[in-house]
Amino acid sequence: MTYTATNAPVPEGTIVIERGATAKDVAPKLNRSVADIVRFLLQQGEMVTATQTLSDDMIELFAAEVGAEIRMVDPGEEQEVGLLELLDVMDAEDEDETLLRSRPPVITVMGHVDHGKTLLLDKIREANVVAGEAGGITQHIGAYQVEKDGHLLTFIDTPGHEAFTSMRARGADATDIVILVVAADDGVMPTTLEALAHAKAAEVPIIVAINKIDREGAQPDRVRQQLSEQGLTPEEWGGDTIMVEISALQNLGVDDLLEQILVVAELEDLRANPDGRAYGVVLEAKLDTGKGPVATVLVQRGNLKVGDPMVAGPAWGRVRALVNDKGEQVKEAGPSTPVQVLGLSDVADAGDDFVVAPDDKTARKVGERRGQYAAIRDRAADASPIKAGVKLEDIFEQIQKGEAATFNVVLKADVTGTLEALTESLRKLERDDVKIQFVHRAVGGITENDVQLAATTGATIIGFNVRPDRKGRALADTEGVEIRTYEVIYQVLEDIQSAMLGMLAPEYEEIVTGDAEVREIYSVPRVGKIAGCYVLNGVITRNSKVRFIREGTIIWKGAVQSLRRFKDDAREVREGFECGIGLTDFQDLRPGDIIETYEDREIPRV
Ligand code: GDP
Repeated sequence: MTYTATNAPVPEGTIVIERGATAKDVAPKLNRSVADIVRFLLQQGEMVTATQTLSDDMIELFAAEVGAEIRMVDPGEEQEVGLLELLDVMDAEDEDETLLRSRPPVITVMGHVDHGKTLLLDKIREANVVAGEAGGITQHIGAYQVEKDGHLLTFIDTPGHEAFTSMRARGADATDIVILVVAADDGVMPTTLEALAHAKAAEVPIIVAINKIDREGAQPDRVRQQLSEQGLTPEEWGGDTIMVEISALQNLGVDDLLEQILVVAELEDLRANPDGRAYGVVLEAKLDTGKGPVATVLVQRGNLKVGDPMVAGPAWGRVRALVNDKGEQVKEAGPSTPVQVLGLSDVADAGDDFVVAPDDKTARKVGERRGQYAAIRDRAADASPIKAGVKLEDIFEQIQKGEAATFNVVLKADVTGTLEALTESLRKLERDDVKIQFVHRAVGGITENDVQLAATTGATIIGFNVRPDRKGRALADTEGVEIRTYEVIYQVLEDIQSAMLGMLAPEYEEIVTGDAEVREIYSVPRVGKIAGCYVLNGVITRNSKVRFIREGTIIWKGAVQSLRRFKDDAREVREGFECGIGLTDFQDLRPGDIIETYEDREIPRV
């Protein structure tokens, strides 16, 4: 019996088919049923299911059989088509010099861990909140804007080069100027050099902030010397790199630093068309249970408005609301402005581009098309079966035995930006004898599902700025799944590197001593807000260390400042009782939040 094709005519012209497509994907494109394809291939001696990836040969064979002209493309190749159509119009507008206007510079702060990036970003923000809006509640959305001498400056507020690199790896050059922070008492460190290399590769101007000059051991000239050896010669030594001595702690020189940024920005002559359809890049994104997917985007050209249909990576939708870095709703956002966008269908990835579409239909079409390509890519990546992994502490032993070790990871993080950055950094740690496999990567707290997945694949769960919920923790205990939570990227990498060398440091386990749920919030004059809580587990003790958790994500860390039972101060409150908890400087309390107290204890390695 020979195969007889259904009689329906195949579509005319060249039909584009992505590599890795299944019979289900191919059938509608060729105007045939899935069964037609499966049957045909069976006759050729190939047994496939409807959802199994087909080889190029199989697809081409079938296309020839039905008389269709096809072109095989790599996933992602066609994905951009819809976007390119959109961008063409914009490019034409951007070529028109008369439409371009000056725009604020976008600045990224990089440098070695603990050299003061975060503090510097905080100080700049505190001191320079745009005039007239001072006192407004600031909100960390991934970037913020400040005003200096009548000019706006945009700071990306995830310090470190991981975010910068992962964005660049995805083709999103969002940064105009890099501030390289070097502590004057510590000097140039490995990460300083890495950051420097990234900035140089991106051909972005670098301003050096020599920080901590208030410290006794500060040696700013040594920093100048070390950097000169790396090809960054300070202006005062006849070179062309601006270096500013600062103390983020004492707020010294920070103003001077801002002035220098203005000088460099002026030289760079940064321009963009402030009108028309907007495009830009996603800085971070998350799923908010109340608001749905929330993406922080940086507008790079045009004017993003409420009501605009847009696509961000595979997510699409109509902009329902725009929220600025002060937590205010705004109607529109122009070039170099960071805003949170509400109304998208899905959580985009950091580094994804976004673009405003001419209408809802196009936005949806481009978004869905991208989603499909992403699915095909994932399927191709998933095609290799997951090998059972080894525990972190067993990696070294396995290598010693001359066997390759596979370290399986379930990675959970608070925002997509960090997730991407961590993935990339972890991938870089791979060696011939140590493979890192991601069993699952997602944004959000660590759930029972994650633990289940880890248990079946022999994976270790790595959580960044997130915590396991109660069910997850319980299951991890019974299944013996290791959950390692971190708040500094550097430490994740260090632990894994040490494990590869068989030198895993003693672990400081953070023993959870109690958790309490916030049920009501009281305002006490002169004291501030007090959380009326119910102790769910263990015991809450005054002065104990606290992690403040909302929807599985750590949003603040500090200590229990005051603890009360009714009107009286209490030293501790046990499970099943109510209490009032006051936290130092943390006021953003909401019912349902969890206050987790913990202690650090060293666990000896056996
Ligand atoms: P990051 O890891 O680069 O973000 O560094 P942080 O901003 O977290 O700072 C690390 C530590 O250095 C913190 O304890 C800061 O308070 C401290 N620090 C930052 N800037 C200064 C400074 O100018 N002088 C002094 N003495 N300490 C500083």
